[in-house]
Amino acid sequence: MSRVWEIMTFTVPAYAATSANEPLAPFTVERRDVGPKDVRIDIKYSGICHSDIHTARSEWGPANYPVVVGHEIAGVVAEVGADVTRHKVGDRVGVGCMVDSCRECENCLAGDEQYCRKGNTGTYNSVTADGGTTQGGYAAGIVVTEDFVLSIPEGVELDVAAPLLCAGITTYSPLRHWNAGPGKKVAVVGLGGLGHMAVKIAHAMGAEVTVLSQSLKKQEDGLKLGADHYFATSDPDTFAQLDSSFDLIVNTVSARIDVTAYLRLLKVDGTMVNVGAPEDPLEVNAFALIGGRRSWAGSNIGGIRETQEMLDFCAEHHLGAEIEVIGADQINEAYERVLASDVRYRFVIDASTFA
Ligand code: NAP
Ligand code: ZN
Ligand code: ZN
Repeated sequence: MSRVWEIMTFTVPAYAATSANEPLAPFTVERRDVGPKDVRIDIKYSGICHSDIHTARSEWGPANYPVVVGHEIAGVVAEVGADVTRHKVGDRVGVGCMVDSCRECENCLAGDEQYCRKGNTGTYNSVTADGGTTQGGYAAGIVVTEDFVLSIPEGVELDVAAPLLCAGITTYSPLRHWNAGPGKKVAVVGLGGLGHMAVKIAHAMGAEVTVLSQSLKKQEDGLKLGADHYFATSDPDTFAQLDSSFDLIVNTVSARIDVTAYLRLLKVDGTMVNVGAPEDPLEVNAFALIGGRRSWAGSNIGGIRETQEMLDFCAEHHLGAEIEVIGADQINEAYERVLASDVRYRFVIDASTFA
């Protein structure tokens, strides 16, 4: 005789995308009941990452609709399972882009769960072992296994902490990996959600920071965020002037750019790391690499241990995101503003407005 176990669930109010071309709309999302190793979080703030837009619009391949996106989650622990040791009710916590991984492959064991050989379980739009789909942070609450829940340190408010869970770690990880620090010249391409955190973090690490933006519209902001120099990429002189000058370029642009032109801005042995993930493939002229023993690399978020390290670094250096707090009914308008590069510098949804 077989017996089917029923998974107990509860529901929370949320916003979901129901197709690639419909606006996001109110939705009720099911969450699993708290298991022994689970943490139930009352979400307070949820950041809007450009990846949410790529996913909601099926730009990275067909999404599993309806999909609740959002992977910059900050909130307070409301309930913990019997075997939870890392978090307790009332703790200020965050959840980023992953909610699980295999935990046994060489990459998971090295703390690089984002590169799990079996594929990490994304916070949204990922298929789970039981055949369900994960649903993310544009919601009033979420249940996550304790090992993928981060602690938000004292001194960083939840609203400005939320974007650190993706924009913060996605820029911190490559900056650390490629040794941004004193004596290093770092360029950040695109001053949006990721870009503005890259500027703040690279500056706090002690690097000399240059912003390469489409125009000079945000120059004053960029310098206040910690940039030493600011150039418009629409001005062809920029590329001539900055030829062979950077040790590291962090490309955060969500669209296709002329990678070859940017590679020529690297010194010998310099690296351009792509964190931007445009829908369309990028091309490169091999001579730009060969001509300076240059590298073109990519980087995906960061591991759980490194994400905690980033949060602690941000607390120590008094860093948070520059945000504009919105209500759930403003999400679609916010998407249009992100697409128009009119974000200063991260939209954060007040989760009380999902009710
Ligand atoms: P965002 O806030 O929209 O910022 C992107 C910035 O790129 C814009 O503010 C704009 O800056 C610049 N830009 C946009 N369109 C451009 C174009 N056609 N040509 C040149 N520059 C352009 O987006 P985000 O949330 O920071 O995310 C950026 C990208 O990173 C997205 O593709 C996202 O999916 C990806 N991402 C990757 C990871 C990862 O782990 N690798 C994690 C999170 C996000 P200016 O106005 O200053 O030019
Ligand atoms: Zn993201
Ligand atoms: Zn793994």
